[in-house]
Amino acid sequence: MSWGPIRGHDRVVEGLRKAASGGRFPHALLFVGPEGIGKRTFARRLAQALLCERRPEAELDPCGECPSCRQAASGDHPDLYEVARPEEKHELPIAVIRALGHDLSLKPMRGSRKVAIVDDADAMNEEAANAFLKTLEEPPEGAVLILVGTSAELQLDTIVSRCRVVRFEPLPEEDLAAILVDLGRADSADEAARLARLGEGSVSRAVGLADPALIDFRRRLVDELAAPGPLDAPDLARRLEEFIKEAGKESLPQRTRAGAIFQELARFYRAVLWQAAGLEPPAPDPIDRRAAEAVASRLEPEDVFLLAERCLEAEYHLRRRVYLPLLLDAFTRDLGRLGSGRR
Ligand SMILES: [Zn+2]
Repeated sequence: MSWGPIRGHDRVVEGLRKAASGGRFPHALLFVGPEGIGKRTFARRLAQALLCERRPEAELDPCGECPSCRQAASGDHPDLYEVARPEEKHELPIAVIRALGHDLSLKPMRGSRKVAIVDDADAMNEEAANAFLKTLEEPPEGAVLILVGTSAELQLDTIVSRCRVVRFEPLPEEDLAAILVDLGRADSADEAARLARLGEGSVSRAVGLADPALIDFRRRLVDELAAPGPLDAPDLARRLEEFIKEAGKESLPQRTRAGAIFQELARFYRAVLWQAAGLEPPAPDPIDRRAAEAVASRLEPEDVFLLAERCLEAEYHLRRRVYLPLLLDAFTRDLGRLGSGRR
């Protein structure tokens, strides 16, 4: 059963409903889990449920028709606030959090409560996090604050201890395929199933992988890394940066593309490990097979493991907003070193 447009998170819905029907709905929630699995969409649906004027909070099921539900759906409910990291910024600035704290301290306009969604919560710097903590420590009557991030470890302990941490799991393949069809991102059920298999539970990942430019670049990159002989690391760093910047002027599409490359490479090296062990990789890409065999015949499994780890580390640094040219420089040098069997 799906919760309106929400698929794949029934367990979370049930947990929150239990809290709501028991009259213990938390005033602050921290959503964590991988990117692209629908946490923000879920937060919006939850806000609608909390603001609905027809259905009681205990049911946590917005009617979708009352004026409040309509305003929440169209994004202009006067008591629903949504803030996020500005496109051009690396961090969520303190000014945004302070303004939110001020808005929340005012009386609700429509009903009895206000709801705030803080997207990109990972991107709060320490100043912003401390400002947010002040709001958490003296929560406005009836307000519900929803932080949307990826990991509790990226938040201050003092924030985590005041929130109910809600964990979201990667989407099951079937749900992911259905979402891709809903979004019009797949032309056929077969295409949706293929992308869902490679998407490993993430909508943005699956959508990103459907990008022909990325598919092409990834294939050439994998072939290059599989080839024997030394890697020209500075040249590769330059080409990676150029390709990442072609994703768009803003930082979000660039980071999405960079993240997809790191994850794809990690997946490739994991597939090498599976293949070396004589197993079928979880999401086999038939075209990778030859490249994977070449790498497996040249490197020790330990080196391949380190390469996979290094790709995930790069992705982690990307999320921590390390300066991209620096990140790529260190990353390609390590690929060259580990790829030639030097640790
Ligand atoms: Zn309603």
